[in-house]
Amino acid sequence: MLSSAQTPRLLRSPAAATTTAALTFKCLHTSPILTPASTSPSPSQILTNRKALLSRQTSAVDLAKSFLHRLRRHEPQLSSFLYVSPDDIVLKQAEELDNRIKNNEEVGPLAGVLVGVKDNICTRDMPSTAGSRILENYRPPFDATAVRKLREMGAIVFGKTNLDEFGMGSTTEGSAYQVTANPWDLSRVPGGSSGGSAAAVSARQCMVALGSDTGGSVRQPASFCGVVGLKPTYGRVSRYGLVAYASSLDVIGCFGSSVADTGILLNSISGFDKFDATSSKQEVPDYASQFVPLDYLEPKPLKGLRVGVIHETLGNGVDSEVVSSVRSAISHLEELGCTVSEVSLPSFSLGLPAYYILASSESSSNLSRYDGVRVGMEGYGNQVFGEELKSLYGDSRAEGLGSEVKMRILMGTYALSAGYYDAYYKRAQQVRTIIRNSFKDALDKNDILISPAAPSVAYKIGEKKNDQLAMYAGDIMTVNVNLAGLPALVLPCGFDGGSAGMPVGIQMIGAAFDELMNKLVNEWFGPDFQKFLVSYPTQPSLSSRENCKFSS
Ligand code: GLN
Repeated sequence: MLSSAQTPRLLRSPAAATTTAALTFKCLHTSPILTPASTSPSPSQILTNRKALLSRQTSAVDLAKSFLHRLRRHEPQLSSFLYVSPDDIVLKQAEELDNRIKNNEEVGPLAGVLVGVKDNICTRDMPSTAGSRILENYRPPFDATAVRKLREMGAIVFGKTNLDEFGMGSTTEGSAYQVTANPWDLSRVPGGSSGGSAAAVSARQCMVALGSDTGGSVRQPASFCGVVGLKPTYGRVSRYGLVAYASSLDVIGCFGSSVADTGILLNSISGFDKFDATSSKQEVPDYASQFVPLDYLEPKPLKGLRVGVIHETLGNGVDSEVVSSVRSAISHLEELGCTVSEVSLPSFSLGLPAYYILASSESSSNLSRYDGVRVGMEGYGNQVFGEELKSLYGDSRAEGLGSEVKMRILMGTYALSAGYYDAYYKRAQQVRTIIRNSFKDALDKNDILISPAAPSVAYKIGEKKNDQLAMYAGDIMTVNVNLAGLPALVLPCGFDGGSAGMPVGIQMIGAAFDELMNKLVNEWFGPDFQKFLVSYPTQPSLSSRENCKFSS
């Protein structure tokens, strides 16, 4: 966290700052007059690049080339992408943007932003395997709504990132195709299931990335890879085109190297969608305009902010280094004026069993569509030919699905079966209600709730691969938030073992539809965290690490 020596000072009026930031994001014209006037270093890669593009300091083609170059350079060590678009297709899109800028035509707010998309999110011109063999040959005939919106705003969606099969896992080792490495230490996992997206943003192979979060799959890998991860409120972002795992928990989320970038990304993909009946009609705020440039800071910028630290998340079973990083972040919040108190959520530990019963139950239903029958041009899935229907089903699923996925389907089928439904599924739903109510009570008394993002830092590849329960236990910090449908933001807040160690993430949970926790980001917290993230070594660097070969 920031040391007290870095305590910010108010230099100018925040109101003016908000206007500038809003203009920056809303700007659709190439006229340099609308680019940000602030001389502060921008913590946002998106806004920095936009400014450079519109003022012709760089071109979309140069930007795309540099990201493609970095991606290729690091990919042999990282394996974060399952698919990358051919250079000529990427460069053609960039060239079109450059021509528009040259002709003073409008370009979207994400013009030239290079985006990686988790491979369980459908993309029209690319594979969408969900990390599974059964979808190896699937080329969706459509874009997921979130992807469509990104493209409409000028983003260049140029690759699909690795994941645990169907999003089931916490390390990305469960991909049917490859194991992704953590850019901070190549012998460690990047977390999961969106490990490819987190590693790619961490190593700056792409500017921002989309992931999905059913029980923590954006937040835990963000924490393991030292980047910002945002899980929106359930229903904030359309799930149309997201390969279903557990539909009542699934959300598409955002990765970026700053809070501002995840906010801008969220802004672009949010909103009601007629293709997803569970998407919300709630108004989408202009998150980007909530960020205040670094110059506009007060001595106690967080005065009055009520922060509740979840008591159950800083005790036994949580690595001491994680606890101390999060505790020092909390002390810093106090220095900035927050009122910090402990809140107890006695039902917290029930989240894990309830989550695994509900997620498995829903997945057993959702994944029944991969039966080997719906294959071919507009269909999906692979088929193993059988003499009769039963063996076609059985052999296609036996060969196409991995062992973790099969286990979840079996677990879910068991929990939903007539004799056990009341004992498992129904009870898990009851626990879910208790958890949801306890979070609501805690958020009535507090503006945000705080916990570590994970009980440990990234562990070694293979360490927990054959110990499912240990791996499931690592989701303890995140699953409750999905059960309650709430938004949560994960930010890097330190390293274990000092700066040579692995990143530690802090989780901030907000009230429903308060994605960037307005009170936090709006006048107070955003600038400070932006400053924090600018000065923070959020990017793995080769020099201090033997196996890590990432320089900027
Ligand atoms: N690790 C959790 C699971 O395996 C969460 C996954 C996710 O959020 N997609 O279910």
